[in-house]
Amino acid sequence: MATQPIEIYNTLIRKKEKFTPLNSPFVGMYVCGPTVYDDVHLGNCRTFISFDLIYRYLLFVGYKVRYVRNITDAGHLEGDRDEGGDKFAKKAKLEQVEPMEIVQKYTVGFREVLRMFNTLSPSIEPTATGHISEQIEMTKQIIEAGLAYESNGTVYFNVEKYSQKNNYGILSNRKLEELLEGTRELEGQDEKKGRLDFALWIKAKPEHIMRWPSPWGWGFPGWHIECSAMSTKYLGATFDIHGGGMDLIATHHTNEIAQSQVCNHCEPVKYWMHTNMLTVNGIRMSKSAGNGFLPLELFSGNHKLLDKGYSPMAVKFFMLQTHYRSTLDFSNEALQASEKGFERLMNAVSTLEKLKSSGKSSSDIKSLCAKCYDAMNDDFNSPILLAHLFDGVKTINSINDGKATISKEDLSLLQKTFHGFIFDVLGLKEEKPATNNDDLLNNLMAMIIEMRNEAKEKKDFPASDKLRNGLAKSKITIKDTKEGTTWEKEK
Ligand SMILES: [Zn+2]
Repeated sequence: MATQPIEIYNTLIRKKEKFTPLNSPFVGMYVCGPTVYDDVHLGNCRTFISFDLIYRYLLFVGYKVRYVRNITDAGHLEGDRDEGGDKFAKKAKLEQVEPMEIVQKYTVGFREVLRMFNTLSPSIEPTATGHISEQIEMTKQIIEAGLAYESNGTVYFNVEKYSQKNNYGILSNRKLEELLEGTRELEGQDEKKGRLDFALWIKAKPEHIMRWPSPWGWGFPGWHIECSAMSTKYLGATFDIHGGGMDLIATHHTNEIAQSQVCNHCEPVKYWMHTNMLTVNGIRMSKSAGNGFLPLELFSGNHKLLDKGYSPMAVKFFMLQTHYRSTLDFSNEALQASEKGFERLMNAVSTLEKLKSSGKSSSDIKSLCAKCYDAMNDDFNSPILLAHLFDGVKTINSINDGKATISKEDLSLLQKTFHGFIFDVLGLKEEKPATNNDDLLNNLMAMIIEMRNEAKEKKDFPASDKLRNGLAKSKITIKDTKEGTTWEKEK
């Protein structure tokens, strides 16, 4: 167990507080997972890498963590407030496949990217479609409690009625009146009694494939209810940590609290944790701004804003240099500096393994190692941890150059601390130079070739040429043969 208590910034009270698990040494942690209708974007990766860091540190200091991260494979409409079409149905139509093929394709892609970032698998990865009956059950309970109503086959949560006895805006720290003022009336939503009401169950149109029978007819669950249903099922009515991106605070997490509170009669979560957003050269990363790149584009360098490709570990190291609650700004300069920093750290790790002890230590190794724990105990502050590790790098290099000394006991402590924090906590790993036998390169190439073939199928020749030319810059040539597409790297 950690020598000092861990402090966590809790969105619910908007300050840091001591982490006391409900049932130590067990910790229950739920993180909202991806909606698998498209390639996972970098902002999501940052969130999952941040919670991987938190998960890893809790394990490292001895907690027994059940980490649940769901897969949203049904029921997510384009707008967070029940407007627009179903994301899966729309994409399935576009790609001319079944919605479940969309789910499969992007779930596989998502896991592949997170594996490249060397994140640990959660303990449970439940899907929305696997928990339809639990979601119907909760919806029934909310209707029975008088806090939801059916309107033409769709069931809505009555926010204003809930607010008479509960603080609906507790997480976002907003009053109901403010929320009402800031919400515009949406077209075609006259079925709702109040404009803040949200769907628990949505009536399916006849052409909608992903639908299930319910007491209110054929339909599918709303997006928010799945997280209440799955977190309750696997972590109980109240659990320790709930996380996600900060864009989920105002609607998704606010609604989760309301639903769970009505069904379980208690506050669902002790510590709410949220990661901040990404910017590119100071501007918020978004599809509409055209400045968003996908993880694979970042690895290959195939994007107009990127000078070159960066390895998954260089990108991860770059992310870990910013605290999860701060905005993370991407720029070529910062990525290149991280690439060098990561290399320096890894070189120091190999030097440390060969280092010889002699006499007394010329610097305070014990205090350096304690500071690593202090940094992580302070709301998982990875940039401060890295700063201490780089102090260690200086010490390691001085000892190696014969300018400093280290005792036998301190050397073994430093090795243990470096190894533990770099590999187990930060989840970094050595990256070997790429060769044709390299798994990473093979996987990357398979994905790039798939992207190119898709572009060609869609007759998007500028995109397929761009991929081919991008590869040529890395001295990789691709050939289309009868057996399929092959590739070769110039020696
Ligand atoms: Zn969720």
